[in-house]
Parts: sequence; structure tokens; C-alpha cells
Amino acid sequence: MSLLSCCNLSELAPDYIRSIAPYQGGKPISELAREMGLNEADIVKLASNENPLGMSPKAQMAVEKAIGEIARYPDGNSFALRDLVAKKFNVEHSQIVFGNGSNDILELAARAFLHAGCEAIYSQHAFAVYPLVTQAVGATGVVVPASNYAHDLEGFLKVITPKTRLIFIANPNNPTGTLIAKDGLKTFLKQVPANVLVVLDEAYDEYLSAEHKSEAINWLSEFDNLIISRTFSKAYGLAGLRIGFGLMHTDVADMFNRVRQPFNVNSIAQAAAVASLADDDFVARSYALNQAGMVQLIQGFNKLELEYIPSSANFVSFKVKNALSVNQQLLQNGVIVRPIANYEMPDYLRVSIGLFNENARFLTVLEQILKSNNQ
Ligand SMILES: *Cc1c(COP(=O)(O)O)cnc(C)c1O
Repeated sequence: MSLLSCCNLSELAPDYIRSIAPYQGGKPISELAREMGLNEADIVKLASNENPLGMSPKAQMAVEKAIGEIARYPDGNSFALRDLVAKKFNVEHSQIVFGNGSNDILELAARAFLHAGCEAIYSQHAFAVYPLVTQAVGATGVVVPASNYAHDLEGFLKVITPKTRLIFIANPNNPTGTLIAKDGLKTFLKQVPANVLVVLDEAYDEYLSAEHKSEAINWLSEFDNLIISRTFSKAYGLAGLRIGFGLMHTDVADMFNRVRQPFNVNSIAQAAAVASLADDDFVARSYALNQAGMVQLIQGFNKLELEYIPSSANFVSFKVKNALSVNQQLLQNGVIVRPIANYEMPDYLRVSIGLFNENARFLTVLEQILKSNNQ
């Protein structure tokens, strides 16, 4: 028996941990099926920006092959994958850090460079993981008000102080889908002090047209304080395997590696990522499907006279009266989208672009709901 009979064990955690609002993910299909008594096969999930094509067939073959080696620890340096990424992006092996999802990269940035008393800057309506990783290490988050749902980079510059260590930027941003133009971004980087690290989260870069694709990897030689984060969870369709990577200056990568778990990326994920990088055709098909689905959804929103935020990614946030209730009605009809009130967007829902039939089902159900609500 303990000497000190304590109250509530949660009070043992520091205040900065207790004040964290946990991450709310998209509702799993199995959970909705349980809750509503629906068949899993009848549910359409458009809530987590996953690739509706699944993974590359080459990745699937690699996964099946890699299962035989599960009893062994993974390669803690992900050598085969590292070599491929280095060649594809023209960086040194020592500039790459692999993560258990790119979330891991964001967290490693916070753990390596933030501590109580210093500050990290991010935008209002930006990806929810930035405040989470900042708070988890006891640092202070500084939120820059968005400008028409987009990042206001001028505003970022104004709040940089001697306490600023990190800046998080999502480009395109989730959940707004907004994109920062390349020249504006480069001008911004030139104005950020050299002792402030900038994490550029490019989770959706594969969904950008050739003209808009990021060139930031070419800027790494110019900006030692730049960290680029990429993921295999979105266009590559490996969300369930958890793998992403960061590209950065060797000295920064060295610090990441000191706080990284030795085997943070599992062997199946490494094998699938290697195979995925060799399947440009799959990424091209995913991009094309997304382009067509975007047109389909936008036409649907226009027909329903709904406001939406033009998006450069594989999802769109749209405005409805009484978003919580519309979300509930969508769920009752087996359609999962994402309410984003926790992003300070209580009037919006975010829908991921799915297969043609999934998008059509979403639009049909949404139309019925809006009609019945207006009666
Ligand atoms: C989905 C997403 C990620 C990817 O997370 P993983 O951990 O790689 O699955 C990263 N950043 C943003 C902005 C995202 O929306």
C-alpha cells in the first residue's frame, strides 16, 4: 500500500501534460459499424485523407515477402530505403531521418529542440499535431491568426522572439487545403533568423500539379535551418504501416537521431516504402484519381450551393449549417467525414476524396440530409 494515499493519479502529471487536448482521429469503420449496427462493407470512410486505391501492388508484394523476417529486428538505419531516398531527392544519407509516420518527425523536432520556456510558432487552423508535440515537451505554442484560412507568413515573422526555436508550416495545410506559393515561401525563409528551425510539412506534396510541386528540397543547401517532412501515409497509401521521413542539415539530423527510438520504423514499413518509391505509376494514378474526384466534389458543392475552401490536397473543407448535426446524420447513413470544430472551424466538415462511387454516395447522402433539414 502506498504511504501517501493520493487523490487522482492524473494530478501526478505536470500541468502542461494535463492541459493537452488529445488528438481526435477519423472514426474507424469498425467503430461506426458497432455503434450504428451497420455492415462494414456499407460504410464509406472519407475522414482521414487516405488513398482510396490502397497501396501500390508492388508495395503489397514487398509486404508479403517481408512478413517472413518479422522475428528479426528491423534495420535501425533503414539503409535500403535511405539509399533510395538519398538518390531520389539528391541528399546525403546523413540528411535523412526516418519516422514512425511523419508525426514521429514532428515529435522528434520538438523533443530535440524545444523545452520549457521556449516557443514554437504555428498557424491557426493548422495541423493539430503541432500544438500537441509542442505542449508535450512543456514549450509554449504561439498561434498566428490565419488569413482567409491560409498561413499568414508576415504574421509569423512578427511573433518571432529570442525564445523562438521552431516554426511549423503545413504546405498544403490540413484541414484547409491552402497552399503557400513558392516565391512567398522562399522570401519568408530568407527573413527567418538562422537560429530558428522551420519545419515544412509536405504531407500532400504528391497531390500537387507539376507546376506547384515543392522545390524546397533544393533549398536545403541554402537554408541550414530548414527541415522538410514527407510521409508515405497519403498518396503512397501506407497510413497503417506508419512511415515518413525528414530531410534536413546533417547537424540537425544528428540531434533528431539522439532522441529517436533505435527501431522506430518497422521492417514491413521499410520494405513497403522501398517498393512504393519504385512505383511512380501508382502515384500518378493516385494523383489523376484525386484530380477527377476533386472536380466531382466541387461540382457537387456548387450544385448544393455550399461554400468550400479551394484545396490543393486530397480533401476539401466545406461549410454547412449545423455541422455537428449534419455529421451525425452522415454517420447514421454510413458516411464518415471529419468534423473540424477542434480546428476552430465549427461550421465546416472536411471530406477526403475517395473513389468515384464513394464521392457520389457522400454527395447523394449529403443532398438528402440538407433537403430534409430545410423542410
Ligand atoms: C496526414 C498528415 C501527416 C501525416 O502523418 P503521418 O504520421 O505521416 O501518417 C502529416 N502532416 C499533415 C499536415 C497531415 O495532414
